[in-house]
Amino acid sequence: MTSLGPPARTRGTVRSALLAVCLGALALGLGSCGGNLTPSLMANTAPPLIRVRLGAPRPRARLALPAHPWTIRSTSGDSYVLRAASEVQTELAANSTGIVIRGRSTGAAALRIEPDDFFTLDGRVYDGHLLVTQVDETLVFINELDLETYVAGVIGNEVGPGAEPATYRAQAVAARTYGWMRRQEREAEQAAFHVYDSAASQVYTGRSVPAQYGIRYDDMLRRTTETRGAILTYEGRPFRAYYASTCGGHTTAAAVSGLDPGHAAEPLRGVACAHCTSSKYYRWTAHVTDAEVVAGFKARGRPVSLPIHAIDVTRARGGWVSEGAVRYGASGQTRTIPGHELRSALGLRSHRIERITRESGGWVIQGRGWGHGVGMCQVGAIEMGKKGASESEILRYYYPGIAFAKVY
Ligand SMILES: [Zn+2]
Repeated sequence: MTSLGPPARTRGTVRSALLAVCLGALALGLGSCGGNLTPSLMANTAPPLIRVRLGAPRPRARLALPAHPWTIRSTSGDSYVLRAASEVQTELAANSTGIVIRGRSTGAAALRIEPDDFFTLDGRVYDGHLLVTQVDETLVFINELDLETYVAGVIGNEVGPGAEPATYRAQAVAARTYGWMRRQEREAEQAAFHVYDSAASQVYTGRSVPAQYGIRYDDMLRRTTETRGAILTYEGRPFRAYYASTCGGHTTAAAVSGLDPGHAAEPLRGVACAHCTSSKYYRWTAHVTDAEVVAGFKARGRPVSLPIHAIDVTRARGGWVSEGAVRYGASGQTRTIPGHELRSALGLRSHRIERITRESGGWVIQGRGWGHGVGMCQVGAIEMGKKGASESEILRYYYPGIAFAKVY
């Protein structure tokens, strides 16, 4: 693994750092500390910076800066610099002569906005810096901030309201592992951004946790800090700690959901889960018309035609569908499709499908769970927390065989 942080320490220092880190991990209730970590895991003392793309590229956005010192500088080779400590509310807009601020063109195609405190973009409050790049007639907005603050802006959105501190801490470790791995990838240093702010990566809203959640951002920051630097490892290396909303009674193997387990097939093989029965998606029923089957398969580039004679499924461990087969057309051909693609084609909550029966003009599909079903079951993690489980117990349950590491 490539370390993008400061140079690796000397051997002796690594060993003493490992001891200190393990004591820290024990104090956090993280249980045993991985003793087989590679030195590169121990090489950093501060969180890395991560770049998050905020929303889709768009022609304009509202920027607000509080009455604290801030700097706006060009990063596209021109000399534009603006420094002040006064409050600003303005529109940022794309223009043929460069990015427009306060109604005037800066002449720059890329700006870095560096507030001492925070900035507000389209009504959401963020820490760190804002990078604005003009691409054709749109602006790309990227928030650059340290990994810890990023994690704090994720976990409230990903867990939702009403969970115990241990569940937010478990989510913080999983979310940090994801961010850390993205940051460690080849070319990460040069990448324009590392993650999206949506479910395409992890849902991130800066300090602005949706008001209806009733979650205080300061609490999310506290839960994050309580696990500072902790990530999940398997055989001494971090792994893709996937998670999903509701498993419906059993999580599934990464490959069954078309996800790459990397070197960690064991922690991502799927486990029985007795903890998510309270989810409203623990069981579900969907009605899919024959026309929707045809449209869904067409959209996946796997055309089928009327009439639809049968939809059959092959199940992997835990009831998750590994493959679906549709028999269709006048001559009754069969089209097969991976189970997770069947879910998308039919617009289902998951591909944990229990029963498919015929109804007039379509199909009744009964299933369980919501999401891809790999790794931590988030509703299960909430329920385990309510029953008194620690973050270590939650994470070890859903990712068997793991060890914790503190990377800074
Ligand atoms: Zn579950």
